[in-house]
Amino acid sequence: MHELVGALRSYAWGSRTALAQLCGREVPSPHPEAELWFGAHPADPAKVLADGAGRSLLELLEAEPNRELGTVASAFGGRLPFLLKILAAEEPLSLQAHPSADQARYGFERENHTRVPLDSPMRNYRDDSHKPELVVALDRFEALAGFRDPLRTVDLLNSLAVPELVQYTELLAAQPDSGGLRTLFTTWITLPQAMLATLLPKVLDGCVRYLKQVDPLESPRQAKEFAAEARTTLELAEAYPGDAGVLAALLLNRLTLEPGQGLFLAAGSLHAYLRGMGVEIMANSDNVLRGGLTPKHVDVPELLRVLDFEPLRTPIIDPEPVDENSFRYPTPAAEFALRRFELTEDAAAVDIPRVGPGIMLVTAGTVVLSQAGNELPIAAGSAAWISATDTDIRARALGGPAQLFCACVGE
Ligand SMILES: [Zn+2]
Repeated sequence: MHELVGALRSYAWGSRTALAQLCGREVPSPHPEAELWFGAHPADPAKVLADGAGRSLLELLEAEPNRELGTVASAFGGRLPFLLKILAAEEPLSLQAHPSADQARYGFERENHTRVPLDSPMRNYRDDSHKPELVVALDRFEALAGFRDPLRTVDLLNSLAVPELVQYTELLAAQPDSGGLRTLFTTWITLPQAMLATLLPKVLDGCVRYLKQVDPLESPRQAKEFAAEARTTLELAEAYPGDAGVLAALLLNRLTLEPGQGLFLAAGSLHAYLRGMGVEIMANSDNVLRGGLTPKHVDVPELLRVLDFEPLRTPIIDPEPVDENSFRYPTPAAEFALRRFELTEDAAAVDIPRVGPGIMLVTAGTVVLSQAGNELPIAAGSAAWISATDTDIRARALGGPAQLFCACVGE
């Protein structure tokens, strides 16, 4: 059991306050801080603190795979199969989806074969793994995820009252299923620039009109049915003017996660995180197919190949209480499992079953971890690496309530 220091990633969409505040640093931070990585990803491994010195977790696992990872080493090729992050978005992230395991293996091989360099920005597949991901909100977390029920989308498009949208709305109304969604999404995302330049401003005008119009049957305090959707469309258009992704985003569920709620994204599920802070866990992969809303490489044909157009009705995962202190987030992923512990001040230490090999991340307060007579205090924004040989871990809050996430390999 050792303290683990995360690797801070600065991207333009990050926040200058959220991560700094959580870690107890000065606000605002000098750079936008987007992600804090806790894992053994070769691009940015976390540091293990032992005997006053820091060592990369990746190096430690490569040097002692059997001691550190136990049976996980043979099951996942000597690697830690997940990456744990704290993510803080101030601006929307790109519209994206991740491939299935088969698609990733095939795509990686194909790009190797055509000799696209591994570090090329044109590369879609940087490894041969799928990338299921789960995010758990730490504050209100806004996202677009999965295709909305097509009939609700027809209602939304009708509400905007844009004559130029009618042909598309009719198309979806005539085929309100995954086939209709595929046709409409494909049409919009590949719309010739000249047509997009005419259609998009009309849609934005429709959003503005919709938000302004007063419905006599609605109480003024009652939010309009599609207010969040219309506002998001305007925000995306401001951040990415003329981007076909703004239209495509109209087809997705507009979600607000309350703190503690989770969102699981299976292979092929189209999504874009909009705003908020969360704990994210994913299979240790970099395979992202983007459809827009980004200055990065966009590959629409490849995205269309992996997308799942089945409407997603319940993408939000409510935490399942395990006992009075802890919650689980069941997902089908074999690479990871995530639990959340809410520790109250001055309460007795609680047992943390089945951790190693894994990572315990503190997101509020200070937690004292104990194991075999050793005590390790961990402050918010830091974590602990728990090896396969570290058993009987206990945790208690120090000096106030604390929140702890426990990440381990799935069952
Ligand atoms: Zn993603």
